[in-house]
Amino acid sequence: MTTYIAYIDDSGDEKYAVYTALLIPIEKWTSTLHEWLKFRRNVFETFTVPADGEIHATELLSGKGNPAPTLSYGINRDMGKRKKLLNLAVAAVGSLEHVRVLSRVVPNGKPDDCYRSLLKDMESRLTAEDSWAILVVDGNGTDGSHKKAHRALKIANRRIVEDPWHQDSKLSQLVQMADIVSFTIFQAHKLNQTRRFMWGWMPDFIHRREWPGACNCPPGAQQRP
Ligand SMILES: [Zn+2]
Repeated sequence: MTTYIAYIDDSGDEKYAVYTALLIPIEKWTSTLHEWLKFRRNVFETFTVPADGEIHATELLSGKGNPAPTLSYGINRDMGKRKKLLNLAVAAVGSLEHVRVLSRVVPNGKPDDCYRSLLKDMESRLTAEDSWAILVVDGNGTDGSHKKAHRALKIANRRIVEDPWHQDSKLSQLVQMADIVSFTIFQAHKLNQTRRFMWGWMPDFIHRREWPGACNCPPGAQQRP
């Protein structure tokens, strides 16, 4: 029996709906955050990105070269460094041994259906191991669709407790981690040529963190244990 806190972010485009949850046992929250902050200290030393600077996947890769339009920190004029930083961040999440990843990728699907599908899958997996979860979702809460999806769960046997709690990714290292992983999973399925450098990141770094039996790597992707 485990109680998880799960951090959730979406990704995708008009062709793919993607939601990803990073589940952390409550008692491992402190050590997990501690490990991540060690990574952020290294990032500061190597890339001069302050620990409170947001690592946001699409922002790091936007604005083809110089500078990234929305970044204010020191590497905003070097796309190579920005790609490297994203790569290191994905690898860092993949190295966090107590994080479990559960994701949904729905081609031609609506984001709301994708979120509800993720909840349904999570509930059945939580039930199977007699566990519970509280969900923290990226955003400011003005989008009521997440709350409606939680309220639609059958109350008698709910394992996802409460409504979603919203947290802006700018203010949460853990929501930023969910963003990074969700974007990586999206790219593994989308296979956009301009993101070719990311195609193997899901099998290489994220697969080992996926909930046992819930591999969502695209068919044919090489999966390393
Ligand atoms: Zn996998």
